[in-house]
Amino acid sequence: MHYTSTRNNNVEITAAQAIATGISPEGGLYVPTEFPALTAADIEALVPLSYKERATRVLSRYLTDFTAEEVAACCEAAYGERFDVADVAPLHELGDGRYILELWHGPTCAFKDMALQILPHLMRVSVGKTNPDEQIVILVATSGDTGKAALEGFKDAPNTRILVFYPVDGVSEMQRFQMITQEGENVGVCAIRGNFDDAQTGVKAIFTDDEVKAKLAQNGMRFSSANSINWGRLVPQIVYYISAYCDLVAQDKIRNGDPINVVVPTGNFGNILACYYAKRMGLPVNKLICASNRNRVLTDFFETGVYDCNRPFYTTTSPSMDILVSSNLERLLYHLSGNNSDEIADLMAALKTDKKYAVSDTVRRAIQQQFVGGCADDREVADTICRVFDTTEYLCDTHTAVAVSVYEAYRAKSGDETPTVIASTANPFKFAPAILEALHANLAETPYDQLADLQAFTGWKTPQPLGSLRDKAIRFTDVCDNDKTSMQGTVYGMLGLD
Ligand SMILES: *Cc1c(COP(=O)(O)O)cnc(C)c1O
Repeated sequence: MHYTSTRNNNVEITAAQAIATGISPEGGLYVPTEFPALTAADIEALVPLSYKERATRVLSRYLTDFTAEEVAACCEAAYGERFDVADVAPLHELGDGRYILELWHGPTCAFKDMALQILPHLMRVSVGKTNPDEQIVILVATSGDTGKAALEGFKDAPNTRILVFYPVDGVSEMQRFQMITQEGENVGVCAIRGNFDDAQTGVKAIFTDDEVKAKLAQNGMRFSSANSINWGRLVPQIVYYISAYCDLVAQDKIRNGDPINVVVPTGNFGNILACYYAKRMGLPVNKLICASNRNRVLTDFFETGVYDCNRPFYTTTSPSMDILVSSNLERLLYHLSGNNSDEIADLMAALKTDKKYAVSDTVRRAIQQQFVGGCADDREVADTICRVFDTTEYLCDTHTAVAVSVYEAYRAKSGDETPTVIASTANPFKFAPAILEALHANLAETPYDQLADLQAFTGWKTPQPLGSLRDKAIRFTDVCDNDKTSMQGTVYGMLGLD
């Protein structure tokens, strides 16, 4: 099986090359050139297996240049005791044909762990097959969840350094504590003055600078990415949709072959794209429901076929979805355009110059056939958290509540009663202030008091990785300016180069 670039069909590389390098030189994203088939018999065979074993089977179909033992070892190392439940990504039945897929049982309490716990292992094998002598430097700009999950995944990984930049005013207190107390000998964390876009722009500028790359090369180092543009982050996410379907079959909620709907709270479009891939393989998915917050670029796009970032950027109570450029949409457009890399290169050039593009009628129709877009604002999110808790005692985080709210509006409007899996992307305690407010509870001042309050108010338990932060030593207090020179100096400092 091979991979090509969304912007250049002449590229033909292996999975290991795609994972080790992250992004294609002309700026395109790596995509599989074909989709392995998942038959009803394949699903039947997966039903009795554990999450680890299901992951091994699914990943083997994509990572065909890995040996069976290599794939199994990666899954074994990733999906073990670092998750606080044995079934890794369990389903919670909410009633009325609604099933919450809990993707936040990993060490950082957000769904990013599902991929970032295995990516370091996939990366180690991939680098071993391509450039075994190089030291990999993972550079991350984060708005909160990715940075911590990448730090936890890559901490003390051999032959790897990881450096994370976060905006000094752009992350929650809890997210900041999670990062500045990070343990590990190979990690670095620095705040930058500015917002997430400044951090992202600075990191990209360093990442693509020839002089910096040459300096790293002289020292036997090379940059790579832990961002969701990396194929190694996307492919592990396909597994949990297939696994959820198997669980529904195992629990006699559906019969093998029955369709389901899937709802995904979306930011960069990675998570929902993974579900599209599962569907392309043959998983019986009816509608893919793409839920956005007030930053409703995707909702408008699904309606009109025009992707337009010329609009205000809102900060919401679901910060991990506050995003105007959904990078992974590029991959979907590539597949739906009939693998037309020239068409995609043109669209992405238009996005760069005009901050907007319009897709062809063919692509727009294909999208509207399979996807439904919808959005929910902070009010609707708070109301949903409160209503779901009052009626079922289930506590949704703000991102998950966007999905629940959009789904309920879709169901009321369409009358579609297909059993539905709703991806839940964060533990509610990670966003305790917004949840407490939604529940009309008192809001204490410090993050740790807020955790205690939420526990007392709901009877839900504070997850251990958040509760224990209080006792951890603060290791990283540096703040740098967001210009390239300052950030580059910080990177060199952390790597011990001068
Ligand atoms: C990253 C994130 C999302 C968005 O996922 P995408 O793959 O970027 O669409 C949603 N919810 C939470 C809690 C996240 O951390």
